[in-house]
Amino acid sequence: MGGLLIGAAMLMPNSGHIVPTAQRIPVTLDIENILPQVSEPEIENTAFINSIPHFERTIASGDTLSGLFSKAGVDQQTMYKVLEADLNILALDTLLPGNRIQFWLDNEGQLQKLELYFNTARQVVFTRYEDGSFNVEEVNVEGVWQNRIISGDIKGSFYVSAQKMGLAAADIQRIEDLLKEKLNFARDLHAGDQFSVLVNDQYVEGEATGSSQILGVAIKTGRSEISAFQYSDGSYYDAKGHSLVRAFQRYPLAKQPRMSSRFNAYRKHPITGRVSPHNGTDFSVPIGTKVIAPGDGIVSLVTDHQFAGKYIVVEHGGKYRTRYLHLSKALVRKGQRVTRGQVIALSGNTGRSTGPHLHYEFHINGKPVDPLKADIPMSSKLANQDLRAFTNLVNSRQAMMNLG
Ligand SMILES: [Zn+2]
Repeated sequence: MGGLLIGAAMLMPNSGHIVPTAQRIPVTLDIENILPQVSEPEIENTAFINSIPHFERTIASGDTLSGLFSKAGVDQQTMYKVLEADLNILALDTLLPGNRIQFWLDNEGQLQKLELYFNTARQVVFTRYEDGSFNVEEVNVEGVWQNRIISGDIKGSFYVSAQKMGLAAADIQRIEDLLKEKLNFARDLHAGDQFSVLVNDQYVEGEATGSSQILGVAIKTGRSEISAFQYSDGSYYDAKGHSLVRAFQRYPLAKQPRMSSRFNAYRKHPITGRVSPHNGTDFSVPIGTKVIAPGDGIVSLVTDHQFAGKYIVVEHGGKYRTRYLHLSKALVRKGQRVTRGQVIALSGNTGRSTGPHLHYEFHINGKPVDPLKADIPMSSKLANQDLRAFTNLVNSRQAMMNLG
């Protein structure tokens, strides 16, 4: 009987001055009985869906996916089917302590529905088809976004001063990253220098979801004022409209590659007719081809997945995320900063893959987009037609942020 190693999230609390990521431990899975099955895309029974779950748990440090399924009384073959459905979203890999997982079973003890509750704004729901495979659906609630100003004097480091005034660790790191070429945070700041940050926080039903955007930041030192503002394209510019984030490359490869499958949000499965989106772009490249970071960022996940294979996730500021699947080798580790053009991995053919290729995903605000068509920052200065709107935005935000 072939045992197979698959990564399942080992859930650890966020710690200190590091981008939140999950640690992982391998779990042994039996793949003997897993065969592709095809039948009508019908959900057997939806009546129970609003009822109380049969098993519910708030994720705690040390939980594993297989442990949770076993406690819920759901076998590993079913867990494997859920993982298969999760291939395009990879939500199970992002569960963290404090998130909730809920299982609904039918009278025969079969898993009918599984819900991952990340926060009031985001849930992921798996529902069983008659053939035993699962449909996956993301529920995203937009809610309302509210501005908040966090300002104060520097006393000690920027990190300590900003944290004392209520700025989240991840936001502080984002700011330090954003201004790293303008300001040496270790050397250039002195007691009495001032800072002001305009944060936009998401609320759903009156509850903060933890999602936020930095709209503006200004730091006034003895001699000068350094500032950055986010424009509607999601990118950051100084007050004159010069980009602070280096432009992205369209491809995460050195040479223009041959595309074997395009991004397609409405792709239909040829046999079942079910919509099964292709959330990435496939590039046909031989195993061992260098994969490069298309922009500056921080590695948030390096892992193995039964279907996605070895894969990497990179966060580029708060708005953009890239994902690289079916790799043969990762050359970076979780938490590592990467710069545009840096080799981060070697392509491969791991996981469920029909041949050597790189599956590349580009996400804007958590939603996958076509990396070849999306409106992503590609230049170093705002175009003239955007500059007037940007200047107006800077003026109104500066008035709010009001540095003495
Ligand atoms: Zn693909």
